[in-house]
Amino acid sequence: MSKLWSPAVRELTPYVPGEQPREQLIKLNTNENPYPPAPGVGEVLRDFPTNHLRLYPDPDSSALREALAREHGVEVSQVFVGNGSDEVLALAFQAFFCQSRPLSLPAITYSFYPVYCRLYGIDYRTLALDDAWRVPLESLPADSGGIAFANPNAPTGHGHSRDAIAGLLERVTDCVVLVDEAYVDFGGESAVPLVDRYPNLLVTGTFSKSRSLAGLRLGYAIGSRELIEGLERVKNSFNSYPIDMLASAVGIAALQDKAHFEACREKVITTRERTRQRLERLGFEVLPSQTNFLLTRHPGQDAAQLFVGLRERGILVRHFNTEALRDFLRISIGTEDEMNHLIEALESLC
Ligand code: PMP
Repeated sequence: MSKLWSPAVRELTPYVPGEQPREQLIKLNTNENPYPPAPGVGEVLRDFPTNHLRLYPDPDSSALREALAREHGVEVSQVFVGNGSDEVLALAFQAFFCQSRPLSLPAITYSFYPVYCRLYGIDYRTLALDDAWRVPLESLPADSGGIAFANPNAPTGHGHSRDAIAGLLERVTDCVVLVDEAYVDFGGESAVPLVDRYPNLLVTGTFSKSRSLAGLRLGYAIGSRELIEGLERVKNSFNSYPIDMLASAVGIAALQDKAHFEACREKVITTRERTRQRLERLGFEVLPSQTNFLLTRHPGQDAAQLFVGLRERGILVRHFNTEALRDFLRISIGTEDEMNHLIEALESLC
């Protein structure tokens, strides 16, 4: 701890991302996609004219934003891009949530949000999930300084319907409602079609999960022009070149290959449901999931010990050491083969 740090940084417990091990482990801990990105991504990287790297990239990232706008049926001016949705979220927290009234967050959601709040001095309050581990849309207060949650939520996996999100937006009109759709492609329902009706809705998305590009760092936000302009103001004060040339070209190639995208997400969803059944047969309780992970607990087993046992067998899953989630493991969906190894390992441990 240094006295040279500002008070917010002194107080800060930084977010600790899941381990990226050097050894060859079956990696089911950070919700990456087990399948490679679209073949066009490889072609772009192979054929990229390296001499272009002398130049700064397009400060507006127009080509990538156009591709995203086409994909989502919105105007280019309604799209913002950044280095992973984590960066987009950070900019959104700075642009919209530094208000006199507190931000409302579900008590269990993406654990980065409270980190941003502490870093940027944002006052926030949390609301318990409902009895079925769902984000309590009805109890999110309309007089908040903002509302943020993941839909489907992480690490619980449940996603609310678009109609339910519209219901929230009918009620909450005076602050920004940020819906983080990092996992929406695995069975959730996107709120993007609502952005024209509700100017206070900001939806964020990522190329890290359903597009298999976590290593690239590419994320985006879609919302009203008013909100996108707010994000641009903050962004231009930090780094007026949001996306590097390579990431932009790769992102466009990934968006073009719809067949690859569909095939990968279908495989992930099928494997998820098969894994759920197999876990249930082993006595696990598994929360419903519209994501590429399962949150699960076993009534007779200690989750921390299972985590260690799996690791000893070469399988890495996620165990959150928080009071609410201590009994659970979060397991990302890998290939069928990887999930067979997981189930075999659990059979020997339970
Ligand atoms: N939102 C949620 C809910 C996530 O789980 C993650 C991944 N950890 C992110 C956003 C960030 O994704 P990325 O920065 O890779 O786009």
